[in-house]
Amino acid sequence: MRRLRDLRVRMYCQSGGGNGESGAVGLRNLRLWRRVVQLTAAGLMTAPGWWPDNPVWLGTYISSRFCGIALTDPLAALEVAIAGKAVVWPLLWSAVPLILAAAVLGRIFCGWICPLNTAFEIAGSFRRKPQRALAGNWQPYWLLGGFLTASALIGLPVFTLISPIGILSRTIAFGAGFEAVFVVFLVCLELWYSRKAWCKKVCPVGALYGLLSRFRRCRISLDTARCTRCGACYAACGMGVDIGSPGKLAVMNCSNCGDCIAACPEHAVSYQWIKRRKGGAAKHEPFESHSR
Ligand code: SF4
Ligand code: SF4
Repeated sequence: MRRLRDLRVRMYCQSGGGNGESGAVGLRNLRLWRRVVQLTAAGLMTAPGWWPDNPVWLGTYISSRFCGIALTDPLAALEVAIAGKAVVWPLLWSAVPLILAAAVLGRIFCGWICPLNTAFEIAGSFRRKPQRALAGNWQPYWLLGGFLTASALIGLPVFTLISPIGILSRTIAFGAGFEAVFVVFLVCLELWYSRKAWCKKVCPVGALYGLLSRFRRCRISLDTARCTRCGACYAACGMGVDIGSPGKLAVMNCSNCGDCIAACPEHAVSYQWIKRRKGGAAKHEPFESHSR
């Protein structure tokens, strides 16, 4: 079955459908809107340089103030609390908006905001050869546990100190330093090794967002009556998620980017708002499969 799907994906890529560039119907402009949001977020990062008193954005992706609301990356807040063995309430409160957003809307930070993902996707558009197909696995979730343990043992927020997301946002805001070599290395991986290898195999920030979004309300839904198993959605997905084979890991790895929606030539994929039953359990299992 997997071989058949891989063959269909290859046929789809060879016909020019890879990277979600063709077959777009319905929410065709979703990818464009996502790019606008990604670039606006990156552009705002530079604002302190040319508009020091701007009321919109101040800070980096790790810690910032957006329209007066303090925001902190949940992993950074968690690492600081574990490293210092004390809850820093202002830091924790500033992580709450991002935690709530992930719990309801999923990994939208990954799909719509993360500067590293933006860099990967822009670099990927210059890629000419198909590269290794890498599936997501549980490794980032184990690494998340490892970094939290290391923070407790060393007494420092270990991943936050070396995070390429932090490095890239400092580079955007203040200019490149030596540490930017790490980001360049990851972009080279994107070009010559595999799409979003860092996200699928390493990133503990994405892993924490994945855990927070396990029971999210906004999910990807597949209309099985319309789906022809052409593989367009799988080929479009940079996270290596096969929405035809749902499971916990697939749900947690999905960034709700919408590329699969835009790529489906049959209009079989859509966002769906999952209702809750009275008892509290989710009405549908993610990814929901349905037929009209
Ligand atoms: S997995 Fe990490 S690097 Fe990838 S998009 Fe998410 S936060 Fe960014
Ligand atoms: S399954 Fe669809 S929405 Fe989820 S990450 Fe893949 S392309 Fe994006």
